Amino acid sequence: MSEAASFRRIDLALFKTRQFYILLLLFIVCSIFYYLGELVTFSGWAKSFFNGVHDIHRMLFIVPIIYSGYFFRIKGAIIVTFAALIVFLPRALFISTFPDPVLRPVLFSIIAGAVGALTGLARNTFERSRHLEAIARNERDKLLRVLETMEDGVVIIGPDYRVRFENPSMSKEFGEGMGSYCYGYLHHRDEPCGDTCQLKTVIEGATKRWEYSLSDDKTYEVVASPIIDSDGVVCLLAVYRNISHYKWIERELVKINQVKSELLSNMSHELKSPLTSIKGIVTSLLQKDIELDDETREMLLDGVNEETDRLGSLVNNLLNMSKLEAGAWKPEKEPCYIPDIVDEVLKHQKWVHMNHIFWADLEPDLPEIQADYGQIRQVLINLLENATAYSEEGTEINIRARVVDNTIEVSVSDHGVGIPSDELGKVFDKFYRGTQKRRNHGGAGLGLAICQAVIQSHDGQIWVESIVGRGSTFYFRLPITQFSNN
Ligand code: ADP
Repeated sequence: MSEAASFRRIDLALFKTRQFYILLLLFIVCSIFYYLGELVTFSGWAKSFFNGVHDIHRMLFIVPIIYSGYFFRIKGAIIVTFAALIVFLPRALFISTFPDPVLRPVLFSIIAGAVGALTGLARNTFERSRHLEAIARNERDKLLRVLETMEDGVVIIGPDYRVRFENPSMSKEFGEGMGSYCYGYLHHRDEPCGDTCQLKTVIEGATKRWEYSLSDDKTYEVVASPIIDSDGVVCLLAVYRNISHYKWIERELVKINQVKSELLSNMSHELKSPLTSIKGIVTSLLQKDIELDDETREMLLDGVNEETDRLGSLVNNLLNMSKLEAGAWKPEKEPCYIPDIVDEVLKHQKWVHMNHIFWADLEPDLPEIQADYGQIRQVLINLLENATAYSEEGTEINIRARVVDNTIEVSVSDHGVGIPSDELGKVFDKFYRGTQKRRNHGGAGLGLAICQAVIQSHDGQIWVESIVGRGSTFYFRLPITQFSNN
């Protein structure tokens, strides 16, 4: 709609208002009253009350002028003032016998117009401040609604230490505290907190930030800043953010860093000790001035062989673990026959650990399963190496395999040191090393973690049963899947 059209619409709307007709009536009455004295004189009536008091009659116009100022504001007052002046002019120019007939109507119009305009101005100011108050109230309501739905706790504390406001999150975390003293509500004290209290500093204009820990392992980050409450009093507004979770993450990160450093030093040690042995043996073998008999030479070479195997197994576990972490060690399933894997692994283990007695008890006619041959072989190697590492030479190590509930269950038992019951739940964790001593050096707490990851990636299960001093049995089950005919 054009500006002219909207202006016309406003004008037309004016004619529909009650105030306009009241104003018109007032104006007409005043005009009639103003000329009534002239009518009396003209008609020859005797002197009456109306005769000759035009200045007073004119004063009546103040009523429509103030009325229009109140309802139609400054513009309305000015228009009505001009209309009144027009009413005054015929008498001033043609009828009045005074020497200065125009001066007084003009003076009156200026004063009355100013009073009308001031009325309009006062009404405008009043309405504007009412409007601003409504906006402020609206904003306050909005703010309160935001505070009520906020996840962080919000509290307003007055200079008298009294809690003036708390949002529902605050009540949920600290209980109801409206009207109570902040030191009692937040710190369970009978008097203000002394030097640590931030109330005064914040009320003086500073924004403060600190951490606040509750005894029940909850930590909050508090940000406090000054706020002017609805009664004009400067108060403290504090936002309590529960950061217990971040604190927990921080503590865990510190722990992880510790584990990492321990791991690095452990790894360096585990890699260095076989290398030192190999270096020592090779140096002895290379010494030309020392004559070595065949038996000693063979013993030294056996030593090199053993240390190389240890090194190989450690590096192998590390490589497999990093492949698992990177998701690059996915099982490549193929039809596998468990007794084949057991035979191959046992052949090697019997040769490496000649002083242990290995027994295999495999149920006849075990079905083939879908599995990654290399990965299952690694699982068996890790379990058997642990069995030899945690049991004395000359003791038995048994491998069993049988069908249970549509799975093949394989177990590796030793008669070694066993695992304390409080460690049973942790032995499959990455880098976990138990309190039991290995017979030989080596190990990095990765072997069983790798076994668990491999078995789980085959949708199987792995667990351990153990009695300290009697030995341990590690079990794993792999599902038997039906092969399709094509
Ligand atoms: P490690 O390289 O330390 O042997 P593993 O992941 O293979 O790491 O084993 C984790 C922990 O489980 C070992 O440190 C040890 O305490 C315990 N453990 C594993 N196998 C046996 C076993 N056969 N007998 C006793 N304890 C064992």
